[in-house]
Amino acid sequence: MTPDDYDKLFEEARDGAPFSNSSQGYSWMANWCDRCIHDKPARQGNDGQGCPLILVALMDKTPIQWLCETKEQAIHADYHCIEFRDEDDGPGGEPRPIPDPPGQLTLLPRGEYEGVRMLTPFEPDQIPATLP
Ligand code: SF4
Repeated sequence: MTPDDYDKLFEEARDGAPFSNSSQGYSWMANWCDRCIHDKPARQGNDGQGCPLILVALMDKTPIQWLCETKEQAIHADYHCIEFRDEDDGPGGEPRPIPDPPGQLTLLPRGEYEGVRMLTPFEPDQIPATLP
């Protein structure tokens, strides 16, 4: 994921702001984005190279990469960002590719076939992105 993916991420995002107010949003981002490799350039003063998912959220859409496993998590906007990579992870702090499953042969490059799957016990469309 790079800042150039913004258009695609915006298209696939759910309608509705992810947070009910700015305090809720800043609190969530302090816990996730403030230590994520994807937003490190923005923390260093280069906002244009920051995380495109944050930009999607600022446009009143909820990225599909932000998942909730329970209704309570959805109500409290307690998302799990599947693109999160701790900037202290791994050698050099660079995100590493997702490894192939053990015992599987790799016949085709996986990159373009990888996508976001939302395995939840409820229909995400039934849950408002924000509370009224
Ligand atoms: S990938 Fe997720 S956790 Fe990381 S900066 Fe973007 S929105 Fe935040």
